[in-house]
Amino acid sequence: MNQVDYIVIGGGSGGIASANRAAMYGAKVVVIEGNLLGGTCVNVGCVPKKIMWYGAQIADTLNLYKQAYGFSGEQDTLNFDILLKNREAYIQRARHSYANSFVNNGITFIKGYAKFLDNHTVEVNGEQYTAPHILIATGSSPKVPNIPGAEFGETSNEFFEWTSLPKSVAIVGAGYIAVELAGVLNSFGVHVHLIIRSNMPLRQFDDMLSQTLYEELVNSGVSVHQYATPVSVTKQKNGMLTLATESLENIQVERLIWAIGRQPNVSKLGLENTQIALDTKGYVQVDDYQNTTVEGVYALGDVIDKAALTPVAIAAGRALSERLFNGKTHAKFDYTLIPTVIFSHPAIGTVGLSEKEAIQMYGKENIKVYQTSFTSMYTAVTNHRQSVKMKLITQGEDEKVIGLHGIGYGVDEMVQGFAVAMRMGATKADFDRTVAIHPTGSEEFVTMR
Ligand code: FAD
Ligand code: NDP
Repeated sequence: MNQVDYIVIGGGSGGIASANRAAMYGAKVVVIEGNLLGGTCVNVGCVPKKIMWYGAQIADTLNLYKQAYGFSGEQDTLNFDILLKNREAYIQRARHSYANSFVNNGITFIKGYAKFLDNHTVEVNGEQYTAPHILIATGSSPKVPNIPGAEFGETSNEFFEWTSLPKSVAIVGAGYIAVELAGVLNSFGVHVHLIIRSNMPLRQFDDMLSQTLYEELVNSGVSVHQYATPVSVTKQKNGMLTLATESLENIQVERLIWAIGRQPNVSKLGLENTQIALDTKGYVQVDDYQNTTVEGVYALGDVIDKAALTPVAIAAGRALSERLFNGKTHAKFDYTLIPTVIFSHPAIGTVGLSEKEAIQMYGKENIKVYQTSFTSMYTAVTNHRQSVKMKLITQGEDEKVIGLHGIGYGVDEMVQGFAVAMRMGATKADFDRTVAIHPTGSEEFVTMR
């Protein structure tokens, strides 16, 4: 039996952050990772996605905006191989830097899948390990529906293995991944069918965001199929796929991506050998301090039912190590006011409550909403004008800003600073007192009346 101070299961965003912080305080740490170091974000998530999104931005500039700014010339074509080569090289460098951080911090890295043998013993590659502290940071995996022919579809994981672009694709889902991939592929010239089972994408966000995104998706040429629940997929002799929906639509495409949410990675963990409880949705159950139902075992990141975002996993992982290895007995991550960006076309930035949530929480009479809408200056001089919409939701007599939402050109880089202001309890008067930066899109957040 190998004895260490801290066993971290999962070498993704949360696991790496927690392991490094613990090791910095002198803990003897083992990280166990079954797949690629870096986890979802680096290998099949945020990083390759953002590089594809930047590529799509360049495609938009060349195809939609270049001429209005006076540029002309040969038709620009995408060499997908070059994009992939540079994307993968960047990811390799990220993985190397994680591996180096382990070496520098004296962390032992083990490649293999970990399994609990009992509450405090973990087995990997036939070796047993025990520690007073064990972290489950095993992340999540894409869901695939249980319908005939589902296996002909792919997920975001396989999307990042594509070596060429199809002429047409169906993307099933209405969340982050569905709208992000729809925008990227549409900009690259693929005919995208977005298959949503309700009327709007991103239903969980403020109505202004989902409504505007819907309009922009349609304007940009994406075929949005509303109230379309898939019932089967069949593969034709020529390789084309037919997605049949409950509303009797038959959608023919070259490729199909399931983007209907993700499920926690718990099945390989041997939790049946422990008293670690799962919640009703199958996520590892934790309290506010990331404690599971077994003392000395913790969980965080996508494997628990909280905001599934990289900075959340990282911050929770570091807070846990501050508590366990740096004597900060009350350190915990605050899961409120988490800012987030959806890299859709156009991008969405959002912090705090939607209008519906604010009304539900405080009552309509205690809420005041400010909104603005304009055409982004970048697109205003072109034939492809794109709107920007922004909303502030304030509460109470002092008009504390409790919700800030924007969709449009450049919004992705606007909201981080506003999130700081909101974390400090900023009111509408504080926003009004702040001098605008002109001419920018973000100045509209401080000039709303
Ligand atoms: P992960 O990063 O998934 O790491 C878990 C690791 O555990 C994996 O490497 C897995 O192989 C390993 N593992 C699982 N079981 C075992 C086992 N039994 N033994 C050993 N190892 C095991 N978030 C953002 O903030 N911004 C974005 O732009 C963004 N874009 C995304 C795009 C896509 C397409 C996807 C899928 C996700 C995106 N996310 C984004 C979400 C983000 O990737 C996750 O929230 C984050 O990676 C969660 O970190 P984690 O440490 O909990 O899990
Ligand atoms: P999401 O939870 O964001 O969205 C999945 C959506 O798919 C649901 O909202 C639902 O929409 C729809 N859906 C669910 N089941 C079905 C079904 N059976 N048939 C059709 N549609 C269905 O999941 P994603 O997989 O898109 O992303 C997972 C998480 O990863 C995100 O929640 C986010 O936390 C993170 N992420 C973050 C990104 C970022 O920060 N930019 C980017 C990508 C992912 P409805 O109920 O309206 O039908």
